[in-house]
Amino acid sequence: MTQPETTRFAPSPTGGLHLGHAWSALLAHAAARDSGGRFLLRIEDIDAGRCRPEYTEQIIDELKWLEIDWDGPVRLQSGRMADYRRVLADLTDRGLTYPCFCTRRDIADEIARMQSAPHGPEGPLYPGTCRTLDRHTRDARLAGGTPHAIRLDVAACLQALGAAPDGFLETGQGPDGERGLIILQPDMLGDIVLGRRDVGVSYHLAVVIDDHDQGVTLVTRGEDLFAATHVQRLLQAVLGLGAPRYRHHPLIRDASGRRLAKRDQTQTLAALRASGVSPAVVRARLRLNQ
Ligand code: GLU
Repeated sequence: MTQPETTRFAPSPTGGLHLGHAWSALLAHAAARDSGGRFLLRIEDIDAGRCRPEYTEQIIDELKWLEIDWDGPVRLQSGRMADYRRVLADLTDRGLTYPCFCTRRDIADEIARMQSAPHGPEGPLYPGTCRTLDRHTRDARLAGGTPHAIRLDVAACLQALGAAPDGFLETGQGPDGERGLIILQPDMLGDIVLGRRDVGVSYHLAVVIDDHDQGVTLVTRGEDLFAATHVQRLLQAVLGLGAPRYRHHPLIRDASGRRLAKRDQTQTLAALRASGVSPAVVRARLRLNQ
């Protein structure tokens, strides 16, 4: 008998759902229901500039159409900004963050100047320019109100922890597959932004706080977020939070092998629905992906 899992689907309402989202939602829903656990719906809408309430409505409608039900009220991250800011302030008080005054242009120029810029799975990482800024300059810029982001100081986190946590548990595909412990590479994404200069907080921070706060035991999401899990596990460790288990599923690809994006209009649930495709057919098509 497996333990009851608490899983979640956590879309950002920057558009309607496409088949990739439906796959994440169905897997998380099945993991919860098959184990007699709970399935939660969380709307990740911290970015007020890109998120729209009408997309939240659309996502809810599309999940209902797919016959996915959830437990308890829908959580909106936009209502929890004060909590995220409080945690960010604590990390800053502990010396685990630093302000970053770099613009995108500054970062690109710095990377171009470097002989060997650090790279992650998605390209060059932040080169750490503001980590070594002298105290006087930093304080003067802060006092002068220079716009800045807040970055996680990965090296300071590792020092504070003494050693990196082992990693995170990854469940595999299929009924009995556990992929086991994935060894942590805490710097895989470099010194990520925890406090965006426009929004004040960031996805990585909010997701870690909410997964803990909502008692999530299994995170089921696309493998495009595999690298993110490494830094999220580091954040959990410095915040003293336990880690859920993870399952990163393969991405749904189009006929030419490219991953689906919100702009691929033919693979949106809205388009499939409008063309008369039934939820049962969508589910069957996704199961073939397994
Ligand atoms: N909100 C994120 C997205 O829509 C997913 C977050 C997650 O599953 O951790 O890409």
